[in-house]
Amino acid sequence: MFDFLIVGAGFAGSVLAERLASTGRKILLVDKRNHIGGNAYDHHDEAGLLVHKYGPHIFHTNSGEVFDYLSRFTAWRPYQHRVLASVDGQLVPIPINLDTINQLYGLRLTSFELEEFFASVAEPRDEIRTSEDVVVSKVGRALYEKFFRGYTRKQWGIDPSELDASVTARVPTRTNRDDRYFTDSYQAMPLHGYTRMFERMLDHPNITIMLQCDYRDIEPVIPYREMVYTGPIDEFFDCRFGRLPYRSLEFTFETVDQAVAQPAAVINYPNDYAYTRVTEFKYLTGQEHPKTSLVYEHPRAEGDPYYPIPRPENAERYKQYKALADATPGVHFAGRLATYKYYNMDQVVAQALAVFDRIIGARQLSLGGTAEPQLGTTLEDVAPTAELADPAAAVRTNGVHGQASR
Ligand code: FAD
Ligand code: UDP
Repeated sequence: MFDFLIVGAGFAGSVLAERLASTGRKILLVDKRNHIGGNAYDHHDEAGLLVHKYGPHIFHTNSGEVFDYLSRFTAWRPYQHRVLASVDGQLVPIPINLDTINQLYGLRLTSFELEEFFASVAEPRDEIRTSEDVVVSKVGRALYEKFFRGYTRKQWGIDPSELDASVTARVPTRTNRDDRYFTDSYQAMPLHGYTRMFERMLDHPNITIMLQCDYRDIEPVIPYREMVYTGPIDEFFDCRFGRLPYRSLEFTFETVDQAVAQPAAVINYPNDYAYTRVTEFKYLTGQEHPKTSLVYEHPRAEGDPYYPIPRPENAERYKQYKALADATPGVHFAGRLATYKYYNMDQVVAQALAVFDRIIGARQLSLGGTAEPQLGTTLEDVAPTAELADPAAAVRTNGVHGQASR
């Protein structure tokens, strides 16, 4: 008898497997793919280059708790991510900063003058509701159209005016010369890759792993007490309220017979080509190799679910599924697909740690005699939101923190 059947061996499922195993629970961790790590999986390709199978994954967080937790399973390579955008025949830094504007328009503005420039072109909005509002209200329509409109339409298949503000709000605007993509206090890549980190996380006698296994095939025959589910929430409930849309991507890999292929880790193509961006992995991994590997991302409506699509009608449908999840005894929902949240890796780790605390806390309560039924948890109430700069802050303030033996 397993104490937990955990569906999905990505960050959400693996962190919960590790935490629960450490308390003596017996875990069966299943994934329908042929590897652990979920979308963060990396591997060496035929040329021996370390590549990310599901697109570039750059680790960054403001949470010391999340960073310390993962540091138990990996050493790190310091890495600051930088991205260029191909606009008007030039490669300029994105997020938009002082150098972006000066280079693009051939100017020599100071930060102060750039602030004035933005103020003069910005379109004021009473309410910042959509992904268009976010950008247009800060940098005006011309820059919005050069950097955001085309990219977003390609990536999401809809206009920014139909997407929640939170999507383009991920990319800030700066008036200084900071050209880093992220400004989080911890920015680093797992020294030997993500998969190695997952292997160490899951190396525990209480954890049994089954790959290439859809949980639906084994659920009826394998005895377990409770479930952690990290797959798409609509699928769990047989899409009874209709499908929740998830955006997919097709990844095209290219090996180039030279040491370096492009001038930055990532080049975004907001206005040209069918792909959105091209990543050269060696910048991320620091690997030395005479060849180099690139990945092109082609957005798709169909395929593996990668991105929940943040817009009001989807949030409404998700609410229906969440209500069902909350009323499903013995199943805990966690992760990007199961809680339909556009979370980064660190936010998923923070959420999984919060789910763990909740499971342990609930168990301690019920051991103490509280006849609380073991209801399903989606943890909206305790999990970080995508907007939070410090996911662990949300975890800390929810009042359930601190019971785990970390
Ligand atoms: P997943 O990794 O999706 O894991 C869920 C697992 O469940 C999958 O392996 C799936 O096979 C399995 N599963 C589903 N249904 C079943 C079933 N029925 N039976 C068995 N198994 C099942 N985050 C960052 O912080 N930085 C980045 O740079 C970054 N870049 C990204 C780039 C791309 C292209 C994408 C798509 C995401 C990126 N992310 C990034 C986000 C990151 O991938 C996620 O936050 C994280 O991997 C989510 O982990 P998860 O465990 O919730 O889900
Ligand atoms: N975006 C854009 N132009 C860019 C970069 C980002 O329009 O050059 C928008 C786009 O809608 C994208 C979102 O901002 O989906 C978030 O960008 P991010 O780089 O965080 O996307 P992710 O790495 O999650 O795919």
